[in-house]
Amino acid sequence: MTQANYDYDLFVIGGGSGGVRAARIAALTGARVAIAEEYRMGGTCVIRGCVPKKFMVYASKYGKDIKHAAGYGWSVGDVSYDHSVFAAAMHAEVDRLSGIYMRNLKNTSVEVFEDRAELVDGHTLRLKASGKTITAGKILIAVGGTPWMPSDLPGVEYAISSNEIFHLKNLPNELVVYGGGYIAVEFAHVFAGLGVPTTLVYRKDTVLRGFDEDVRKAVHQGLIEAGVNVITNAVFTQISKDGADDRPLTVELSDGQNLRADTVMMALGRVPNTDGLGCEAAGVALDKGGAIVVDEWSKTNVDSVWAVGDVTDRVALTPVAIREGHAFADTEFGGNPWHFDHADIATAVFCQPEVGTVGLSESDAREQHGEVDIYKTDFRPMKNALNGDTSRILMKLIVRQSDELVLGVHIVGDDAAEIIQAVGIAVKMGVTKPDFDRTCALHPSAAEELVTMRTKWVPEA
Ligand code: FAD
Repeated sequence: MTQANYDYDLFVIGGGSGGVRAARIAALTGARVAIAEEYRMGGTCVIRGCVPKKFMVYASKYGKDIKHAAGYGWSVGDVSYDHSVFAAAMHAEVDRLSGIYMRNLKNTSVEVFEDRAELVDGHTLRLKASGKTITAGKILIAVGGTPWMPSDLPGVEYAISSNEIFHLKNLPNELVVYGGGYIAVEFAHVFAGLGVPTTLVYRKDTVLRGFDEDVRKAVHQGLIEAGVNVITNAVFTQISKDGADDRPLTVELSDGQNLRADTVMMALGRVPNTDGLGCEAAGVALDKGGAIVVDEWSKTNVDSVWAVGDVTDRVALTPVAIREGHAFADTEFGGNPWHFDHADIATAVFCQPEVGTVGLSESDAREQHGEVDIYKTDFRPMKNALNGDTSRILMKLIVRQSDELVLGVHIVGDDAAEIIQAVGIAVKMGVTKPDFDRTCALHPSAAEELVTMRTKWVPEA
């Protein structure tokens, strides 16, 4: 069959960050493009991920800001928070953004199917609700991931995931978060900041596995200082419900503790959305976790099928899915072949205070590069001198000893995400420690400490 005999040149499954970008860029080259989305256009990021989460972080932080304003002379009367007012505003903005995604697709002549699509073979799809069969010269799978729920945990049906946390009508009376990754940590802070008694249960001893050890310790300590009851080295053995009071759920832990709550949130990681997608029928290879196996061009083992974003389990972040989708479309339709380089991606954890990080952790740097020098500082930011906020800022540079190349930059503190985005440019360009040293400080700022660290850190004997 020639390209012209297919219904479309490109069919994209999944209207999230990666799929929408690829569809639009391909359509702009004149290709005949269609996209299927089974839930809401915009995907996880816009509908139930980054965007509403960041709004919740902002909502939570206002509480602290109001309290701390007194140190700067503001007298603040009785304050209260109404979750329904906030939630309505948040959902209105999410609706607006989802509408923009839809309009942008239609403006670039992408045909939109509000339906689930499943693969029949390497060129054929079936739409679930309409039953329609569609053919395409190329297929891009961009179906993302979904929260993993431990189906063998008794009482798991009483728990919610990050999908539902955005739809709570009222604040929980008491919340238990299960997990130690960034989503668990962020939501524990959000709700503690909103005044909800919050417990975080994690099976290991320090949250944020995979991050730099100093960052992990600072964030762990930050949770405790924020009033979160952090329980480590324990797992859930059962959740039960007795309906007795405003905390009808009991979470039983492996260490013998019982926790009462009305809301239990699982944040134990995410799995690729490949169940029932038809990958077997189309011959598309999956890894043992269900992720689609792709090469550096995001191409699967089937000649006409590509995959981008979370479903490939490379780096599960919105800007990464967008870049992978863009690279695919430029390469396959725009006559401009390039692929995304996954090294040195700046990223954040929106805990309070937040984490901004780019490059390698100290342990990964030592493992991959041998001898490294560490520069680090931990200080009380100027703003906190007057407001009673006890939080501090941690900054850490990891420098390869042989040529002073900066391998990693890690910040825990207010505005760390904003700072690290700019530092990420320098790291991507191959910045060295002498480049940091000859950069003039911007005073007074917290970020100036990044360019004034002169003394190598020596571990205590
Ligand atoms: P998605 O955005 O998940 O889109 C996939 C789409 O495919 C979905 O809309 C789904 O409904 C649809 N779909 C699935 N199967 C089918 C099918 N068979 N047919 C049709 N449609 C289908 N990333 C960041 O960079 N920063 C953050 O701060 C951040 N915070 C997050 C917070 C939370 C709570 C979560 C859950 C995620 C967060 N992420 C964050 C991760 C980010 O949301 C994802 O990396 C990103 O959305 C991945 O994009 P994607 O295109 O791969 O998939």
